[in-house]
Amino acid sequence: MSSLKSPASSLSFEINATEGAARATTLTTRRGVIETPVFMPVGTAGTVKGMRLEELESPDLDARIILGNTYHLWLRPGIETIKECGGLHKFIGWDRALLTDSGGFQVWSLGALRKITEEGTAFRSHVDGSLCFLSPEISMEVQAVLGAEIAMAFDECAPGEASHDEARRSMDLTLRWAQRSKGAFDNLQAEFLPLPSGEGQTGSLRAAGRDAGEPQAEMPALPDRQALFGIIQGASHLDLRRESLERTVEIGFDGYAIGGLSVGEEKHVMMDVIEEVAPRMPADRPRYLMGVGTPEDLIEAVARGIDMFDCVLPTRNGRNGQAFTSRGKLNIKNARYTTDQNPLDQACNCSVCRRHSRAYIRHLYQSGEMLASILLTHHNLAFFLDTMKRVRQAIRSDQFAHFRREYTEQLNSGLEA
Ligand SMILES: [Zn+2]
Repeated sequence: MSSLKSPASSLSFEINATEGAARATTLTTRRGVIETPVFMPVGTAGTVKGMRLEELESPDLDARIILGNTYHLWLRPGIETIKECGGLHKFIGWDRALLTDSGGFQVWSLGALRKITEEGTAFRSHVDGSLCFLSPEISMEVQAVLGAEIAMAFDECAPGEASHDEARRSMDLTLRWAQRSKGAFDNLQAEFLPLPSGEGQTGSLRAAGRDAGEPQAEMPALPDRQALFGIIQGASHLDLRRESLERTVEIGFDGYAIGGLSVGEEKHVMMDVIEEVAPRMPADRPRYLMGVGTPEDLIEAVARGIDMFDCVLPTRNGRNGQAFTSRGKLNIKNARYTTDQNPLDQACNCSVCRRHSRAYIRHLYQSGEMLASILLTHHNLAFFLDTMKRVRQAIRSDQFAHFRREYTEQLNSGLEA
C-alpha cells in the first residue's frame, strides 16, 4: 500500500490498507504509535472516570491515546497549577499520547450561560459562577500548557437543526477562529518548545508499539511540537459542510475533524454529512469524527473513511448501569439478571468478563457500590477498543465488508437469555 508521509508535520501518517472508503493507518506521535481506526477514551478532568491508567495501558484495553478537556482543566485545577506540575502528561501520570479539545464545544453547550462575540465566548464557570472568557488565542495558550500531542482549533458549533443562515454565520465565525487558532498556535510552538530533552520520546514509544503481530516500523524522527487539527462545521447543510472543509484545508492543519454532529440531529443526517465530507477530506491526513458514537456509528463512519473517534458513551453509560455487548445493550438494573451467572458479554475476553457474573455486578450496582461503575466502565471500554482492533484487522485482511455485516447482524440479534 502506498505510504503517505508528512515530514513537515509533528505527526507521521501512513495508510497501510484500504477497503472501499475504509482505511487502516498508522499515526505516529512523539509519544507512540497509534493504529487507526482508533477509539479515544474521554478523560474530561484529567481522568477517564473510574479507570486507573494502568488499566488503560493493560493488554485488556491498550488505549494509545486519551482525551483531555481544555474547558474543564482550565477552570479546575487551573492552568497555572498544571504548568507548575509540568504539563498534563506529568500531572496525571500518563506517558502515552493525549488529545485536547479546544473548549469550544463545552462552552457552546452551556447554552444560555454563554455569550458569543467575534472576539470569543464569555460564560459563567460551572464551578464557581465566575465570569470567564475563552477565545482562539486563549484556547491555544491553555492547550500549549497542557501539552497534548494533538490540539484542536477553537470552533463554534451550530445546533443540529440550525437553519442555513444560522449555520453559515456559525461556520464563517469558526473559519475566522480557525485562522486565529492557527496563527496563535504557530507562535506558541516557537515560544514554548523545544521541551526538555528526553521528555516523551523513547520510553513511551516502547510502551506503546504497534498492534501485536504487526511488524515494527522504523520510528520516524518527529519534531518535538504539538499538532493542530482544524474542525469542519456547517450543521446538516451539505453545501456548507463542503465549503467549510475547503476553506479549513486552505488554512492548513495537521489533521481534520468533523465537528457539530451528534448534537440532536437525526442519525441519517449524521451519516449523510459523514458520507459527504469524509471522502473529500485530505487523504494524507488523519480524519477525526468528534463525539460520536455507538459501536454501530463507529463501524458505519469507518466504512465512510473516518480514522479517529472519541465518545463519552462507554464511560458515562457504564456509570449508569449500561453495558455495551456484542449482542446489543444490557441494562444491569434489569431484575432478569438477579441470578444470571453469565458474564456481561459471553464473547468478551476482558478481565471483568473473565471473572464476574451479571448477577454480581447487578448486586454491586443495586447496592450503590462504586465497583459497579468501575467494572462496567472497564468492560465498555474494552468492548469499544476491541471492536476497533477487529475493524483494523478486518481492513488489513480485506474482510471489512464481511466483518461489518456480521458485527451488525449480531448486534441486532438480541441478548441471550
Ligand atoms: Zn468484558
